Amino acid sequence: MRNFWCEINLDNVEHNINKIRETTNKKLMAVVKGNAYGLGVENMSLILDSLVDGFAVSNIEEALQVKSKKDILVLYPELGDDDIDLIKDNFIITVDNRIILDKLEATGRKYRVHIYVDTGMNRFGVKPNDLNNFINDIREKYKNIIIHGIYTHLQNTGDNSYTLKQIESFKNVIVDYIGEIENIHLLNSNGFLKYNKNADFDNWVRLGNVLYGYNAAGYGYKKVFFYKARAIRVYDLKMGETIGYGNSYKARENIKVGILDVGFIDKLGCVLESKANIFRDIAKAVYHHVKYHSGINYNGRIIRILGKPNMNFTLIDMSGIKEDAVFNIELPSVIADSSIPKKYRKGDSYVSI
Ligand SMILES: *Cc1c(COP(=O)(O)O)cnc(C)c1O
Repeated sequence: MRNFWCEINLDNVEHNINKIRETTNKKLMAVVKGNAYGLGVENMSLILDSLVDGFAVSNIEEALQVKSKKDILVLYPELGDDDIDLIKDNFIITVDNRIILDKLEATGRKYRVHIYVDTGMNRFGVKPNDLNNFINDIREKYKNIIIHGIYTHLQNTGDNSYTLKQIESFKNVIVDYIGEIENIHLLNSNGFLKYNKNADFDNWVRLGNVLYGYNAAGYGYKKVFFYKARAIRVYDLKMGETIGYGNSYKARENIKVGILDVGFIDKLGCVLESKANIFRDIAKAVYHHVKYHSGINYNGRIIRILGKPNMNFTLIDMSGIKEDAVFNIELPSVIADSSIPKKYRKGDSYVSI
């Protein structure tokens, strides 16, 4: 096991959920697709099970990994032939066309489905004008299929007037079904942060980012994951000795060196690369940040990387730092890397899930 890990702070997870609950009475569907945004779907679903009302994933394979008896909405409206037999009673299937309905109907089993309405994403979904027909068709021809919900997805929440119109147009096409179809939802994280009050006809929110504290700075949500590492070796380097590939660092005094088993493979030290001029300054700033601020710190102190991060290892200056110190590692990853081992913290200690 590596001495580098991703710490998931369960207190922060609870903080985020409490904050969501304070903001809305709508039910909370935890989106745990993509291995729970890299945080580990099995453990995250166990942790979230008692705190949320349901789950959402991309496909059947992901649904099978969720450890919960609560409802799990499968968002991607496609089923492979080998998926059909794997559908469990607590899975809810998203439908947007008759091919998928035929596949479900053919088994003779009963299924609960949510209809996905396309209000602008232009990816999947029933077009608003076709919705009435689609619903009538299901009711008349697909006796095993229960319309349990209806939803859409907001794909341009940065544009206020567009999004307000989109919410309004979704409301207009589903208004006749309010009360008749039990579950209605449209808000992802950005939608929830900005438009929760504007959506006054839905009863669920579908949240990923906010739950894990990504992209929610300024709204009082806390990031839930942090990279940590402890030195796997510590040794002395004498003044004048060099270190690393290309002898890239030369000690100007006697120092203590530590080896961390985190490296380029984990994106430590990666910088943005771009040929476009407008990005060159950003790339330079990032490079400067990486070079001089390193992305490694201990108790608020910036730790010097000696030379460059290697593929799997990074050498750091540990002079004056105790050998078992736990370093904070900043990585430029957009989501948590699934391959990095996880540890789950509650209060001051790690807990097993
Ligand atoms: C991924 C996804 C979400 C969650 O989005 P966040 O921005 O992470 O909250 C909600 N709905 C659908 C359809 C999604 O694909």
